[in-house]
Amino acid sequence: MPDGCACDRHSHMYLTVSEALARGLSAADPIRDIETLPLIDAIGRVLAEDCISKVAMPAFDNSAMDGYAVRMVDLGEGPAFELPVAGRIAAGDSGAHDAPAGSALRIFTGAPVPTDFDAVLMQEDCETTDVGIRFARRPRPGQHIRRAGEDLKAGSPVLRRGCEIKAREAAALASAGYGEVQVYRKLKVALFSTGSELRQPGEDLAPGQIYNSNRFMLRALLDKRWISLTDMGPIRDDPDVLEQALRDACDSADLIITTGGVSVGDEDHMPRLFAQIGGQTDVMKVAMKPGKPIMFGRRGDALYIGLPGNPVSAFVTWQIIGAHMMARRAGLHHAPQTPEQAVLAEPLTRPAGRQEYRPVVIEGLTPDGVPKLRLMAAAYSGRVALLAQADGLAVIPAETETLPQGHAVPFLRF
Ligand code: AMP
Ligand code: MG
Repeated sequence: MPDGCACDRHSHMYLTVSEALARGLSAADPIRDIETLPLIDAIGRVLAEDCISKVAMPAFDNSAMDGYAVRMVDLGEGPAFELPVAGRIAAGDSGAHDAPAGSALRIFTGAPVPTDFDAVLMQEDCETTDVGIRFARRPRPGQHIRRAGEDLKAGSPVLRRGCEIKAREAAALASAGYGEVQVYRKLKVALFSTGSELRQPGEDLAPGQIYNSNRFMLRALLDKRWISLTDMGPIRDDPDVLEQALRDACDSADLIITTGGVSVGDEDHMPRLFAQIGGQTDVMKVAMKPGKPIMFGRRGDALYIGLPGNPVSAFVTWQIIGAHMMARRAGLHHAPQTPEQAVLAEPLTRPAGRQEYRPVVIEGLTPDGVPKLRLMAAAYSGRVALLAQADGLAVIPAETETLPQGHAVPFLRF
């Protein structure tokens, strides 16, 4: 994507997507307040400290197999080897033993390997005798022993601050000995959908009314352990009511997300109202399709993201811009999804001017295993049903007008 601005056919200046994202991110100051939580309660939260391991991982030499521990010095010339078995060590045992020289120990996975023992034989490679074991192949020194600190030395970095504590992170923190960790406090998010036409699903629709899909879409997108959400519901296009809602949201939340009312129609009040309550608007026009009308701004510490009302536009602008702003605001060190490489299953023709995120369906794979993308309808900004059937978005550069069948395109998989 070239830097600077792209122009649409009315020759208004628009920000490129990458420029709008950069501006959005710079407006999204990370929260700094930290709390200490037991690890179990920190799952799903954002880590606020760099963590080093409190112990070596693993903490002691231990067996990687069920089998027998031996001392290399006890092994003769071969070809076959025979040793009595003089003891047994299981996971959780201390590793103390009184096996005399010339004997083996029965050992199990995870059990400490005593320091004078230096190889483990898999039980599958041993034959049991009346007094012990017989085996045909000389082990390699150190074989099947997991050495203390081989995963991580004590004091080495385990995780850096800014990560979301998901399954892998929780496991690493537990292994590193963290009973409690520091996390950022939850991000306070306020959400409302604007539009006098909106009804709740389940209610009857009067003429001119539609179901509020954005509310449910955003509830799903905001369903995170690191968010404390205030859902203010739908709000009708009444400037006084909207202004009060915006004011309340800005007074109490770190991040305010609304849908609708950011375009240029008479009922599109949000930019004006946000300015009226003392907000500073940063971006209004982004050369992207779908989703040209998106706004964000600041009022004090509150960050405001006004998404378009059309559901597909709201979804795409959220994915491409809003979600990254929110992640940064919450303290996450987070990189936007890297697109995969895919190819077009059919030629593409479209007007140049805006970077497009076109819903696509994977139609199959090339012989090299690259997804072949079938383009969905070109006019789709309101089509939530179509969006639900898509496998992802093809990214089409602003200046592109035509692409032949088989052409490579970046693909953002859902
Ligand atoms: P707006 O951006 O307010 O002009 O809305 C653009 C289009 O999106 C209109 O057709 C609205 O009816 C529709 N729309 C706005 N908000 C929602 C919503 N929450 N759920 C579904 N459709 C919406
Ligand atoms: Mg509206």
